[in-house]
Amino acid sequence: MIKDRTRVLVTGGSGFIGSHLCERLLEDGHEVLCVDNFFTGRRINIEGLLDNRRFELCRHDVTIPLCIEVDEIYNLACPASPVHYQRDPVQTAKTSVLGAINMLELANRLKAKVFQASTSEVYGDPTVHPQPEGYWGNVNPIGVRACYDEGKRCAETLFFDFWRQHQLRIKVARIFNTYGPRMKPNDGRVVSNFIVQALRGEDITIYGEGQQTRSFCYIDDLVDGLVRLMNSPDDVRGPFNMGNPDEFTVRELAEMVIDLTGSRSRIVHHPLPADDPKQRRPDITQSKKKLGWRPVVPLRTGLERTIRYFDEQLASGDVLELL
Ligand code: NAD
Ligand code: UDP
Repeated sequence: MIKDRTRVLVTGGSGFIGSHLCERLLEDGHEVLCVDNFFTGRRINIEGLLDNRRFELCRHDVTIPLCIEVDEIYNLACPASPVHYQRDPVQTAKTSVLGAINMLELANRLKAKVFQASTSEVYGDPTVHPQPEGYWGNVNPIGVRACYDEGKRCAETLFFDFWRQHQLRIKVARIFNTYGPRMKPNDGRVVSNFIVQALRGEDITIYGEGQQTRSFCYIDDLVDGLVRLMNSPDDVRGPFNMGNPDEFTVRELAEMVIDLTGSRSRIVHHPLPADDPKQRRPDITQSKKKLGWRPVVPLRTGLERTIRYFDEQLASGDVLELL
């Protein structure tokens, strides 16, 4: 007897979060089609999956429509780090908006379930703390972060309009800062920067005074939340905050990384980038109640695992593959 399998499309599947998600979906017995244009993704992230007969890789840009047959779509394609999404801001906005339209139209034709990776950035520099999903945010629409923030906000709008207009089965998660193995050493985000700097004995670069806060979620916790959301009943759409509510200042993070690596790196201060949010912490009441989800990996434990990963990668010396 042939077992019924779900055929799942993961856009951005060779990126940090996408590659962990592909792995989890294969473990769950699904067929996985990974679509990626390798703007920030890396082949090394999915190398271990290429031999799996239920895994397929397609180099494609989501701003261009795609004609395939799948049952479920996870739309993750989009650079996530400010350094990378500001490199080509027009392409970033197009990826979010045209990418969402193309995935929604594909889902509509196939009557497939479709998930959108939204972000805590939809709250901008929040004036409500912690942030519940009902908060509408404080975003500068013409600032340097807007290509990402407003792109993701527009994608959410499109998802909810496709649901209202076409009764599409949609799922939306607002992901807060997530970290773990397979981040790129040059990703530019705070966790990877601090770990790589500490391991190399370089200065640890705190932007501003380091009093700004973030809440860091370990990758395994996040992936568990995404899968729970996709598998939830059709009337559970979100948006759902997905992040770890434990809040740390950037200085506390720097000190923890120095402590865990035993590094002799010095802390130095660089100017704070424009529109950098001062505080960020998810209210995850809805995710707990409707998805039974909560993160379980404490920051220290997650950092230890991430440090081990970077230590091995840096020791392998294959720097080109890492970038
Ligand atoms: P990442 O940069 O590692 O992965 C993004 C992937 O999308 C890459 O593989 C990249 O090559 C691909 N991509 C970019 N533009 C594309 C396009 N036009 N067509 C096809 N593929 C394209 O980032 P990540 O951290 O894995 O983030 C994945 C998703 O989660 C993103 O949508 C991001 O906005 C969202 N998110 C991430 C975080 C986080 O902390 N990592 C937080 C909030 C939201
Ligand atoms: N940050 C820092 N040093 C770095 C990289 C980032 O102090 O080397 C700060 C950054 O200004 C921000 C916080 O750390 O206040 C988180 O930055 P990240 O880019 O990881 O995520 P985001 O700002 O998108 O939440």
